[in-house]
Amino acid sequence: MFNIALDGPGGAGKSTVAKAVALELGFIYVDTGALYRAIGLYSLRKTIDTRDIPGVIKLLDEINVDFTHVDGEQRVMLNGEDVSTEIRLPEVSMAASNVSAIPEVRAFLLDLQRKIASEKDCLMDGRDIGTVILPNAQLKIFLTASAEVRAKRRYDELTEKGQKVDYDEILKDLNERDYQDAHRETAPLKQADDAILVDTSDMTFNEVKATIIKLYEERK
Ligand code: C5P
Repeated sequence: MFNIALDGPGGAGKSTVAKAVALELGFIYVDTGALYRAIGLYSLRKTIDTRDIPGVIKLLDEINVDFTHVDGEQRVMLNGEDVSTEIRLPEVSMAASNVSAIPEVRAFLLDLQRKIASEKDCLMDGRDIGTVILPNAQLKIFLTASAEVRAKRRYDELTEKGQKVDYDEILKDLNERDYQDAHRETAPLKQADDAILVDTSDMTFNEVKATIIKLYEERK
């Protein structure tokens, strides 16, 4: 199997470009953030504070998360329910970041991610794919952009969907999440030693896509 590990901070444009690259290469696209979001969502529904570590760990016994792919598109199933839309709510982002810092939560999701990668050519996007989940991935990319550019992209994306959002609020939320993701003890957001850094601040979508496809062509 050919595995591409794509890591980087929130809003770097990973998911949009990853979907397009996967489609072109005939790979499946795996958005691992969705798994942490599903656990965050479940905690919120059960009104368990996502900073309450023992409380969240206790919930894991009741949780079954899985992916299905419908027409090439990833759907996230939480105890059999498709929660793909709900996990995108802004309040779920911070909840996901909180639960993702818990080692038991990361261990809980590890096998599922490795299993998918062992069965299919895939492009997996996350924070620790190149460092922890798929250390032997044939291609590792660390995609980043300045915080301001990332916040602006997120702002445009949500505004386009008709949501009323505040740019400063988004920037603050992204910075807070990045800091938390990069400073946690278990599997922090970090560029793997053998990952290629792609700074997308001044690149168009098509340039980023072409860069990744070229890197793949050089390695396949
Ligand atoms: O990628 P996305 O923004 O949807 O991820 C939500 C949160 O899940 C991130 O802020 C991060 O804390 C966590 N995450 C992680 N490891 C991954 C993917 C996401 O810790 N591989």
